[in-house]
Amino acid sequence: MALIVQKYGGSSVADAEKIKNVAHRIIATKEKGNQVVVVASAMGKTTDELISLARQVTEQPDERELDVLLSTGEAVSSTLLAMALKSLGHDAISLSGAQAGIRTDAAYSRARILTVEAHRIVKELGEGKIVIVAGFQGITQDMDITTLGRGGSDTTAVATAASLGAEICEIYTDVEGVYTADPHLIPQARKLKELSYEEMLELAAYGAKVLHPRSVELGELFNIPILVASSFTESPGTLIHGGIPMEVHSKVRGIAHDLDVAKITVLGVPDQPGIATAIFEPLAKENISIDTIVQNASVERITDLTFTVAKSDLDKAMRVVEPVTKSIGARGCIADAKLGKISIIGTGMQNTPGYAARMFSALYEQGINIELITTSEIRITCIIDQSRVEDALIALHKAFELEKGDGI
Ligand code: ADP
Ligand code: ASP
Ligand code: MG
Repeated sequence: MALIVQKYGGSSVADAEKIKNVAHRIIATKEKGNQVVVVASAMGKTTDELISLARQVTEQPDERELDVLLSTGEAVSSTLLAMALKSLGHDAISLSGAQAGIRTDAAYSRARILTVEAHRIVKELGEGKIVIVAGFQGITQDMDITTLGRGGSDTTAVATAASLGAEICEIYTDVEGVYTADPHLIPQARKLKELSYEEMLELAAYGAKVLHPRSVELGELFNIPILVASSFTESPGTLIHGGIPMEVHSKVRGIAHDLDVAKITVLGVPDQPGIATAIFEPLAKENISIDTIVQNASVERITDLTFTVAKSDLDKAMRVVEPVTKSIGARGCIADAKLGKISIIGTGMQNTPGYAARMFSALYEQGINIELITTSEIRITCIIDQSRVEDALIALHKAFELEKGDGI
């Protein structure tokens, strides 16, 4: 008997019929002799609607209240799913994040799971029940409800799988797996049979929202295989696991894009020790993630410092940076919210020259200006104008011949 964790995304539970369809799939897994824990996302666009509702009440919703509000989306879907299973004759119970023992830090809207105290889940499984856990939420030491960031139900699923020692974590969504690029934008994109954690993490962190980046980190840390597949078909999906030899795929595996990019430039910064700390420490304290950082070579000990943040963090970041700009004697700071990121990813790139040149020339041929460039061992990212991201995606998918399948 295996223990399997399955997660169903918002589009998979978007209405009553779809919830019933998911219930049948869960039952099929259980009837194969498995114990099943299910993580449910909020129905359809519920989370977006709740955010919009809060914004209609106030421009800056209180963070604690907003997290409680957003957690109700998953309360609806998980309870309905438990009801559907029971009506089909299978014993099931829904648990909120708190009841399931999902303990987090207190960073509202982007909380990190600290532990999963799974005794309640284990007890219910022991009684033969299918356990439905409300995704995306947890509870702090002070019993306040938190949410894990958009797409965070994936992380609930992998963290739960890790704490239960599950055999596999299956993520069911509206596409049949992880593709060489977003299949909704690139019809020629090819489904990948398998991916390493490292490759998937870079894809997810740089915009391929099919998995929440933190879920991939946890998968790697606890060596939990993650299957991404469709909740509507029986197609085999993509397996993310640790057993892939690095040398096998010496090519670009996928392209990620991200439209949620903003840039802040602090102008006329005195080039002296302590300046970077003065700017980035207060941003870290506010839990604002910084991505690319570029400091120009200084002229007469004055320089410009540019960095990127998620567009959704821009207002908050500017409120932090503006007073610091004054206190360090910089000339001022400016923001640009109309940027995007395009990244090529693949483990084989690290020892093979020519990938960057090919990427830049494909962008140049489209007349796309590169604002900033960053790299990791297995990724090259260009920050470009948001309006050109789709053109860049099409051009790069072609330039790296990703539509040509080789079965991997
Ligand atoms: P869910 O609601 O099931 O969590 P998401 O919308 O969060 O689903 O993630 C699935 C979506 O991710 C797909 O519909 C697709 O548009 C997008 N996506 C982006 N990049 C990729 C990729 N490389 N492979 C597959 N899907 C991708
Ligand atoms: N419902 C949340 C969201 O829309 C979490 C998730 O779906 O993973 O972001
Ligand atoms: Mg998702």
